[in-house]
Amino acid sequence: MATVNTVLGPISTDELGPTLIHEHLILATPGGECDALAVPYNREAFAGSCVEALEKAKAYGMRTMVDATPIDLGRDVELQKQVSERSGINIICATGLYMEAMGKPAYFKFRSQFGDATTEIYETFMKEITQGIGDTGVKAGVIKVATGQGEISAYEEIVLKAAARAQKETGIPIITHTEAGTMGPEQAALLISEGAAPERVVIGHIGGNANLQYHTSVLEQGVYIAFDRLGLDFVFPDNLRKACIIGLVGIGYADRIMLSHDYCGDLSVCWLDRPVELPDFATPVIANWSYAHVFKNIIPALKEAGVSDDKIDTMMVQNPRRLFS
Ligand SMILES: [Zn+2]
Repeated sequence: MATVNTVLGPISTDELGPTLIHEHLILATPGGECDALAVPYNREAFAGSCVEALEKAKAYGMRTMVDATPIDLGRDVELQKQVSERSGINIICATGLYMEAMGKPAYFKFRSQFGDATTEIYETFMKEITQGIGDTGVKAGVIKVATGQGEISAYEEIVLKAAARAQKETGIPIITHTEAGTMGPEQAALLISEGAAPERVVIGHIGGNANLQYHTSVLEQGVYIAFDRLGLDFVFPDNLRKACIIGLVGIGYADRIMLSHDYCGDLSVCWLDRPVELPDFATPVIANWSYAHVFKNIIPALKEAGVSDDKIDTMMVQNPRRLFS
């Protein structure tokens, strides 16, 4: 029996059910610790808001989410445990590091002057995968990596190499962040050349463009792709994402596609530190963004366009199960 580590312990991959491959409970932008007016973190309040948001998706049959928050974006394993216990949703948490521009690259960049930072990052990932995160006892179930717009920086490259090495050794999947629909093919090629198994890699935020040639150049490398910002019309229009999903399913790629939202809770609640006030124009373009949007709006639209129940099941249930098996 294949098992996967969730924040509440290992479960059979058969128990994953409908899975959202890239979501967040909370996010903290590095630097919040420098804001004298940052609101102190209240885990209880955050947990309540996350449970409430997840219950709306659970009503549509959602069973599992991957919390794609890397180490340096405010990942809180105790919060993940509480939310999983209270909501009944399986949560798979990540080890990994974010892209250079928005993460916390300073530490390992500094250390790279004195030694082999790739190995040190690999050791960090391995500790969190095999022994657990801090003293929580929770083992990471995926490795998250990220690259910036139009390039893979030297720092990002060593993070990807460390991830590929940990993937190869432990078998656990890698999920990625791509920026503005760039570097997907390059990420896949680098990870594979460093020994990662393509069938254990998900290139994320693929719907940052509607370029089918870009999408297929990633798919041809044998990896999965994730249209995992559905509802974020703010970044790229859902209509074009839907057109790409329908087209790619139509030419036989249903067994390589996963759907998710990159949601991080009520923005006024789940972004840590000083509350974010959204500009007026943003509100209508993220009106549908939630953990439930794929189930409530996207799947019905795909069905309307002729995508079969079987293919929906492949994308929502079978692909995540295969990825973690
Ligand atoms: Zn994300």
